[in-house]
Amino acid sequence: MAELTVGYLGMGIMGSAMARNLLKSGAFKDVYVWNRSADKCSELVAEGAKTAGSAAEVVQACDITFACLSDPAAALACVESTGGVLDGISSGKAYVDVSTVDEACSKRICELVTGKGGVFLEAPVSGSKKPAIDGQLIFLCGGDEALYNRCLPAFEIMGKKSFFFGATGLGARMKLVVNMIMGSMMSAFSEGMSLADKSGLKQEQLLEVLSLGAMNNPLFNMKGPGVIAHNYPPAFPLKHQQKDMRLALALGDDVDQPLPVAAAANEAYKAAKAAGLGDNDMSAVHEAIRR
Ligand code: NAP
Repeated sequence: MAELTVGYLGMGIMGSAMARNLLKSGAFKDVYVWNRSADKCSELVAEGAKTAGSAAEVVQACDITFACLSDPAAALACVESTGGVLDGISSGKAYVDVSTVDEACSKRICELVTGKGGVFLEAPVSGSKKPAIDGQLIFLCGGDEALYNRCLPAFEIMGKKSFFFGATGLGARMKLVVNMIMGSMMSAFSEGMSLADKSGLKQEQLLEVLSLGAMNNPLFNMKGPGVIAHNYPPAFPLKHQQKDMRLALALGDDVDQPLPVAAAANEAYKAAKAAGLGDNDMSAVHEAIRR
């Protein structure tokens, strides 16, 4: 590992935290970072990371390049645009996409990267801002198994567990299923919190009651205080949660699985996004639900 140079594209909430853990580990020869808006790289560069003028230059400088980008359009743009990943890929270069995208996007990126002699792994993550900072993410992988095995030391630095499910697309599917469940849970929780409030109950007491029984879970415990205070600093931006609901519903269409609960939850996220809450935490769906 000490001989490996790794890169990270996308210094958003998740990418910056993962890149920082790779850098802090001291396990790699060099860590390169790149972001579309270059200013987001400056903190990591001050901490010892290297940067480059384009995603292609990062890929050229690195053995393995990770990327964590908003959505399928961003993930594809970062690969296909001039100065993008594809311009840097050559035989043996490894590209690992950690973004949450749909299977079609993941397969397309795989095709483009392998078409130029590179190797590809999809590795979307379960876990949010704090697990990313704490190196406690869960990697849900599909694609090149040899690359998965090569990435294990990096996954161990950034996360607490990783899975390899098989072909490209299976990691994307698993991630969408997980986030669809989370989105529906958050929406159901918000309805309960709203109903409690409007029927004269204390939301703090509902939280305590929930925490003592079978529905006790980190999501409600983590998001509950923000919901009560109407305070939604972004850990997982609502616009990304709505994207994941949308992509999960499309997967449901593909396989003829009815998803009425998720479809209803998606409407609440859409309403919250339309109300200008997209950059808030996903728990801001509460503002659309309580109205
Ligand atoms: P974020 O803070 O919004 O960061 C998004 C990143 O994508 C930024 O670096 C942004 O660059 C970049 N980007 C957007 N469009 C681009 C384009 N066309 N070309 C190049 N770069 C582009 O998002 P995040 O929360 O880190 O999430 C990133 C991904 O991880 C998403 O797929 C999300 O669903 C997934 N995820 C998030 C969480 C979470 O809790 N936050 C958890 C699990 C998975 P600029 O700075 O230039 O805009």
